[in-house]
Amino acid sequence: MLKGKTALVTGGSRGIGEAIVYRLASMGADVAVIYAGEAERAAAVCGRCRQDFGVRAQSYRCDVVDFDAAKETAAAVKTDFGTVHILVNNAGVTRDGLCAMMKEEDFDRVIDVNLKGAFHMIRHLAGTFIRNREGCIINISSVSGLTGNAGQCNYAASKAGLIGLTKSVAKELAGRGVRCNAIAPGFIATDMTSGQEDNPLVQMIPLGRMGQPSDVADAVAYLATARYVTGEVLRVDGGIAM
Ligand code: NAP
Repeated sequence: MLKGKTALVTGGSRGIGEAIVYRLASMGADVAVIYAGEAERAAAVCGRCRQDFGVRAQSYRCDVVDFDAAKETAAAVKTDFGTVHILVNNAGVTRDGLCAMMKEEDFDRVIDVNLKGAFHMIRHLAGTFIRNREGCIINISSVSGLTGNAGQCNYAASKAGLIGLTKSVAKELAGRGVRCNAIAPGFIATDMTSGQEDNPLVQMIPLGRMGQPSDVADAVAYLATARYVTGEVLRVDGGIAM
């Protein structure tokens, strides 16, 4: 279904991003896996894509916070694969704490990775999408960005910002055949949420369980192929934010 397409996934070395990479590869897309530090894991993800799905896969180390590094990485992926059709902005971090006591650096870091990092990748690939008159951008937001969350003012602000970014880019680029959507996951079992299984909020999930990375990958597969959908925010949260 995505044969001949190239997908760039930030934070593709583990967790939700890893599941997204496998799903897109299983649909036939070649994949560029962006990671921050986990080189071996990123290389292993690429190896599995080549072996199990027969697609091209290459990993790239890039701190998405760095505007110039993001530019160089986008250029390297275009050189290696020819072009990019699908961008998934999935890289994200948390530095939780109460707003009244939060360190400035913790606020800035979360905004920089989660929100500015996504802007950087969009900024450096939008020209390619416009020239191709084809492109699909998927930003991984969070239900925290929809509802807010005590102890996560930085994270919720970054994820709410991603929704504003998504809708603005969708409006700017729709006329050029480029779609931009967001996914708002709830509690998904990854490194980011390890130890959260006993969080009282988890007990309140209507579907009765934490999500799996593959649940988010399902939504990516849908948005990657939903040709009449743009500017949407798709909750994948077991119903917790309804
Ligand atoms: P995770 O397991 O902690 O993985 C984070 C990924 O982001 C890793 O691949 C990491 O690369 C990469 N990354 C971190 N900082 C980066 C940077 N500066 N530049 C480039 N890559 C960077 O997280 P996850 O749970 O899979 O979350 C993935 C996304 O879903 C995040 O945006 C998160 O906010 C969002 N989300 C998660 C949940 C949840 O419950 N898990 C819920 C809602 C939304 P390395 O492996 O190299 O460190």
